[in-house]
Amino acid sequence: MMAENAQNHEGAAHKGLADVRRRIERAADDAGRDPSDIHLVAVTKTFGPEAIEPVIMAGQRAFGENRVQEAEAKWPALKQRHSGLELHLIGPLQSNKAANAVALFDVIHTIDRDKIAGVLAAEMKKQGRSPALFVQVNTGLEPQKAGVAPQDLAAFLARCRDEHGLSVTGLMCIPPVDQPPSPHFALLAKLARENGLSNLSMGMSGDFEEAIQLGATHVRVGSAIFGTR
Ligand SMILES: *Cc1c(COP(=O)(O)O)cnc(C)c1O
Repeated sequence: MMAENAQNHEGAAHKGLADVRRRIERAADDAGRDPSDIHLVAVTKTFGPEAIEPVIMAGQRAFGENRVQEAEAKWPALKQRHSGLELHLIGPLQSNKAANAVALFDVIHTIDRDKIAGVLAAEMKKQGRSPALFVQVNTGLEPQKAGVAPQDLAAFLARCRDEHGLSVTGLMCIPPVDQPPSPHFALLAKLARENGLSNLSMGMSGDFEEAIQLGATHVRVGSAIFGTR
């Protein structure tokens, strides 16, 4: 299916990227924000190099994947062919994949428990690499979803800093699918302010404009660029 659709993907992805960039600029303008403060992370999960390369050629440099193994299968080759790529891990991280994640990713959005914080800290030291780190917050308190509960966040951030020696740069959330996202974005922004963090990873294809209105610095957009998965 990927090969068959390669041509379509190419044209569509290109147009999708231009559209999303325009919409980000407009949303930033509407919010009285500088568009350059908003980083677009193009989410490439399930898409192959034939869909991704045209988007790289169009100037996009930051990409997101939600599985370490899938990312390892396609990004080392792409990183070799194109300079300046920045790879973001936006899916849950298992401790047995932490070494591989530290080796491949430049930004990790999904720290949510002490075990992961500890193994990441050890791997970062061992490999001499320091990806930027976000803590995922389960703003909807969904039992099946990863993330620190809002009421536990301050203590977890303190342990990241004091016990694990990690420098956390921001917060990330994925609002419940069946609720309006804005209250979740507003909560994440409030938690970031309270904890002195400046980066907010929030907003996907369906809601990145609302996220920008509420302070997103990193929007994670897949299907609006690459088409449906
Ligand atoms: C897939 C994914 C996205 C992108 O979703 P779209 O709706 O395709 O834009 C963003 N964030 C996370 C964590 C994802 O897994």
